[in-house]
Amino acid sequence: MKFVSTRDIAGNEYNSYEVIKNGIAADGGLFFPKEKVFFAKEELLSLKEKSYADRAAFIISKYLTDFSKAALAYSCKEAYSKEKFGSHPAPLRKAGEITYLELYHGPTCAFKDMALQLMPRLLSLSIEKSGVNEDALVLVATSGDTGKAALEGFADVNRTKIMVFYPEGGVSEIQKKQMLSQKGSNVNVCGVVGNFDDCQTGVKNIFQNEYVIKPLSKTGHFFSSANSINFGRLVPQVVYYISACIDMNLPEGVLCDITVPTGNFGNILAAYMAKKAGAPIGRLICASNKNKVLTDFFTTGVYDRRREFFLTSSPSMDILVSSNLERLLWLVAGAGKTREYMKNLKEKGVFEVDADTLKVLQEDIYACFADEKDCHETIRKTFEEYNYLIDPHTAVGTFAAEKYMKETDSNNPMLVVSTASPFKFSPSVSRALGLSSGEGLDAMDRLSEYTGIDAPKALTGLRYEKSRFFTVVKPESMAEEVIKFANQTV
Ligand SMILES: *Cc1c(COP(=O)(O)O)cnc(C)c1O
Repeated sequence: MKFVSTRDIAGNEYNSYEVIKNGIAADGGLFFPKEKVFFAKEELLSLKEKSYADRAAFIISKYLTDFSKAALAYSCKEAYSKEKFGSHPAPLRKAGEITYLELYHGPTCAFKDMALQLMPRLLSLSIEKSGVNEDALVLVATSGDTGKAALEGFADVNRTKIMVFYPEGGVSEIQKKQMLSQKGSNVNVCGVVGNFDDCQTGVKNIFQNEYVIKPLSKTGHFFSSANSINFGRLVPQVVYYISACIDMNLPEGVLCDITVPTGNFGNILAAYMAKKAGAPIGRLICASNKNKVLTDFFTTGVYDRRREFFLTSSPSMDILVSSNLERLLWLVAGAGKTREYMKNLKEKGVFEVDADTLKVLQEDIYACFADEKDCHETIRKTFEEYNYLIDPHTAVGTFAAEKYMKETDSNNPMLVVSTASPFKFSPSVSRALGLSSGEGLDAMDRLSEYTGIDAPKALTGLRYEKSRFFTVVKPESMAEEVIKFANQTV
């Protein structure tokens, strides 16, 4: 399978190991497979008796044809082990009319583990395949959750090192503890005196700083990132949609609709890819919080980021530029138009697709949003009616799913993607249930006591973890810390 860039009209081709190693195309576009991937009915049936890891290896091998089947099988087995994910990495759970696809049973209790446990191993294979002598030094700026998920994914993976920068004072007590206690010989965590933007700008500057790149190359490293625009993060996400369709035992000819709480558009794009690859999926419901730029786009065809930005209780969906939408645009409108749309977005902050394109998009995707009140009421109602506890992101999805079912009279079974453990957002969930919230681990204990539901051990165990990292620097000293880390022999 060859890959192309979403902005390249000439259609230059790349191998999958180049795609994963480079992350983003030189023209600023995103990589996507040149040809359609399709699974025949018999192939999907053959996955039924297989473990999640084996399903993953089979599905991913159709996209990443440069790697041997044995190497993929081994990587998937390591990534989705019982030790990391329990007995099933992506179980289903029914509550009323909705079936939930729980994607939060990984080491950091949120769905990013599903991709970030595998992606570092794919990067490691890509470095080997490309024959270079350097190892990847991955830099991450985080506002909390992604940093920990990346640390867990890269810890002790061959030919990689990872360094995470977080805003000292800008992350929750639990998030900080999670990062500072990270184990592994190739990891480093550093606080920055400043906010998330300072961290992100700092990392971006280091990536382009000659005075860092040169000495780094001497120590045998090249810079890499773990962004959700890397195809290596997208393809593991296709797996759980196909896997869920298999586990739902849908009768012949029946399609299921899927609701995805959406931020950067990566997760729902993977659902779209699964549908186009032959999984029995009907409509996709794109659920947003109060930052509803995608709802407006799928309703009017106008994507306009020039608007107020809201901080909500579903912070991982507080996004105004959904990077992965570019891949969907390329699929329906081609490279020429995609390039134009992205140029307009960058220069004017807005673009508009034509009426035909909008119609094609609306056939597959329905979009709506939930405000803060909708979100909190949904958490309370779902717990009261079904004794099922959901986090604020999943609550946004649940609200959207219920609205869609009511509005369309669809008879399809409804799957809602559950993206985080409710205990990861204990203060918000407690408030929604009418409890006095408290902070950190205490809030988690109280929520667990009130609901009678055990909090995940990965979170409760934090109480006994020791911090390993103590460095906090000003933004201008971040580069120095990176060089120091690269010079450490592991
Ligand atoms: C990242 C994240 C999302 C949004 O997923 P995208 O792929 O960015 O659309 C939703 N919920 C949680 C808990 C997340 O961490």
